[in-house]
Amino acid sequence: MGTNGQFGESLDGIIPFLLLCYMFTYWVKTPVWLKMVFPARLIWKVPADPKAPKVYVTFDDGPHPVATPIALQHLRDHGAKATFFCLGKNVEQHPNLYNELLQQGHRTGNHTYDHRNGWKVPDDEYFENIHHAQQSIKSDLFRPPYGRIRRSQARKLTGAGSNWKVVMWDVLSGDFDTTITPEQCLNNVIKYIRPGSIVIFHDSEKALPRMQYALPRVLAYCREKGWEAVVIPD
Ligand SMILES: [Zn+2]
Repeated sequence: MGTNGQFGESLDGIIPFLLLCYMFTYWVKTPVWLKMVFPARLIWKVPADPKAPKVYVTFDDGPHPVATPIALQHLRDHGAKATFFCLGKNVEQHPNLYNELLQQGHRTGNHTYDHRNGWKVPDDEYFENIHHAQQSIKSDLFRPPYGRIRRSQARKLTGAGSNWKVVMWDVLSGDFDTTITPEQCLNNVIKYIRPGSIVIFHDSEKALPRMQYALPRVLAYCREKGWEAVVIPD
């Protein structure tokens, strides 16, 4: 957004309204306005290379003793690599699973220590929680739980002197939504995935019925299209 700071700040008035809508629903395809209200340094999509099309499959909330090995098996079966945004407390409980992610060539990212909502905790507490998770998750990638992050928090994480890359998304599978069928979850992704897309799944117990159905089919679809599934790049 090539705007000056004043315009940027004036957006603070309408953002709470727009984000209020966000509290009661979720969008499978991230709307353009949501991308525009945040600093340009948040990553929503990776520029696509038409000669070597790639997609970026990501998982949030793990590692989980049942869901993570299932995700890993599907990724192996399809020669795919993914990025796992882990919770510090889960990494502490399942360090071997975390190491396995890395050994298998996947990338990890920080998803706070215990799934903090950036809107509900003071900034200091939020950053402390991220640093707590950083003790077991060695990564410069961060994804805010619920996708909810204040502009002040995003600015601090991506501002001068800070090395974080805040990775948002382009396509939300909705695998966490217990009111949709596994087929609907698959369709959510197939409808919107394109080269450069960052897609969210969850390696959690709640998402498992939909994730384990949709993931292998999404990976097969991408292979058929000639799109390689790789980790979020540097
Ligand atoms: Zn999460």
